[in-house]
Amino acid sequence: MGKFSVTYDHFPGDPFKNFNPVDDSKGASAVVEWAYESYGNNVVYACSFGAEGVVLIDLISKVKKDAKIVFLDTGIHFQETYDLIEKVKEKYPDLNIQLKKPDITLEEQAAAYGSALWKRNPDQCCFIRKIKPLEEVLDGYPAWISGLRREQSAGRKHTDFVNKDDRFKSIKVCPLIHWTWEDVWTYINVNNLAYNELHDRGYPSIGCIPCTSQVIDSSNSRAGRWEGFNKTECGLHTSGNSAQ
Ligand code: SF4
Repeated sequence: MGKFSVTYDHFPGDPFKNFNPVDDSKGASAVVEWAYESYGNNVVYACSFGAEGVVLIDLISKVKKDAKIVFLDTGIHFQETYDLIEKVKEKYPDLNIQLKKPDITLEEQAAAYGSALWKRNPDQCCFIRKIKPLEEVLDGYPAWISGLRREQSAGRKHTDFVNKDDRFKSIKVCPLIHWTWEDVWTYINVNNLAYNELHDRGYPSIGCIPCTSQVIDSSNSRAGRWEGFNKTECGLHTSGNSAQ
């Protein structure tokens, strides 16, 4: 792949349009290399520290040792997630791992919107605690990386390696689009990566405590999120701004 000098306003189209990923990583390694060749230090990996997250961190660390990685710290995460972040920091000491907090604390949110906003209006809660903080993180950054996989949901099955992201006025790079849930766990096990202990306790997808549930069938990698609501995404990967 050649070098690209691109901005959101000059979306490169799909530089991988004719790319047939037949390597072991199903194209992920080449796409990660392309992202850092193209954007240098101006790439943020917004990592949730789920199973895909620890895989991508390992792939990224082979290409960009001091990559900027941001965890959206809503303030309502499981202790196991924070424990994993510390393990990852120890394993990859050169990575620039940052925890980004919302502008308002949980107490201030409760005072302004009522307690447990996630029970009544999770879209608004996600907007305050995830979307707005990511907007702030990506301000001035032309590109970000996400661990989306096509098989995760109907809404993600058309995701490309390189996507124009209207919400964040950025280029969203998704190296793992062709990976299956099994691929993710094979990589974790073969490379002996640390992962969130909750995965072994029936939590395939792990987010904030109030919006994450144990599931019986953990083969659905997005199961257990926002149960009781017609909501499958926090809004980071959808267009529109309805939650404001
Ligand atoms: Fe709020 Fe739940 Fe969204 Fe976390 S996942 S920001 S608790 S609605």
